[in-house]
Amino acid sequence: MKAAVMHAPNEPLSVVELALAAPGPGEVRVRIEAAGVCHSDLHYTNGDLACRTPIVLGHEGAGIVEEVGPGVSSVQPGDKVVLTWRPRCGQCEFCSSGKPALCVQGRVHGESNGLLRGGTRLSLDDEPVHHLMGVSCFAEACVVSQESIIKIPNDIPSEIAAIVGCAVITGMGVVLNRMTGAAGQAVLIIGAGGVGLSAVIGAELVGASPIIVADIADDKLDKALELGATHAINSSAEDLVAAVKAITGDGVQWVIEAIGKQATIEQAMASLRTGGTTFAVGLGNPNDVVNVPLNNLVQSEKSLQGSLYGSSNTGVQVPQILELYRSGRLPLDKLLGDTYRLDQVQEALVDLTAGSVGRSVIVPN
Ligand SMILES: [Zn+2]
Ligand SMILES: [Zn+2]
Repeated sequence: MKAAVMHAPNEPLSVVELALAAPGPGEVRVRIEAAGVCHSDLHYTNGDLACRTPIVLGHEGAGIVEEVGPGVSSVQPGDKVVLTWRPRCGQCEFCSSGKPALCVQGRVHGESNGLLRGGTRLSLDDEPVHHLMGVSCFAEACVVSQESIIKIPNDIPSEIAAIVGCAVITGMGVVLNRMTGAAGQAVLIIGAGGVGLSAVIGAELVGASPIIVADIADDKLDKALELGATHAINSSAEDLVAAVKAITGDGVQWVIEAIGKQATIEQAMASLRTGGTTFAVGLGNPNDVVNVPLNNLVQSEKSLQGSLYGSSNTGVQVPQILELYRSGRLPLDKLLGDTYRLDQVQEALVDLTAGSVGRSVIVPN
């Protein structure tokens, strides 16, 4: 089984033959049909986010169940599944209240770089190789916990299913789950990568208006306009806050900041109208801090809130989003970017850094 291994940050990934153990109790082996290329993978390759090495990267994927371990009844070989990067234990306070992105066990597991029931199923020359977020889908196959998969209809294209597992549900989820009453309200989306463009699709679905998108790349802004944005601001060429005020008069009710930088969070807060809310959805460097003018925060009753994984109930909402796609309500085909083979994974990451448009997908098999 070939997979893309990171031996240390700031080194190119190497695609090598790994041993993949059979699924244990509560585990499933999945043949990967598509894996999205996400900025979070880049954060691990450059050391912004820490993980144990060696590790197989990739956390946004979909594929076909090949084998199930003892005690697995939710899927059988031949079923198509979406992989989720935060397993849902189903028992903790957060899972019980429909917020599995905050799952207590899932968080512990995310830091162990193993599987939920302990240990790793990947090895190279008898040395353990770690799992990224329990997924590790830059690979021909993976073994995952049954809490990390969601069964979906087999007729959904795997490239679409893969990107719904991270980018789409993160961007659409913050709109659907956090922007209460957004129809007719102004939204600003900062960053037109996979998550930002998915937020555009969500904002269009719920009827937010205007839908303003800011980025520093014109080709990404063109894609945002194609997906439903009403206004595009190239913030390298014009002042973002002034441009937002010129469009809206008093600012926007909502900002989705999909980049994860201090400067853009601060621009987001300055772009809000009285009573508005900024959602920070992009991860940055762990040492980053944000400055917010205190009196403006109080006097204008502004809010700054984080949102992880679209604040979504993944097990419920991934199938709902795919059903919306199947009924023609979501232009997810237009969200897809370039396709790469597994041995081109490093090229895909370099292209993402350079500003590839749309969500790129690796097709390993
Ligand atoms: Zn991701
Ligand atoms: Zn839980």
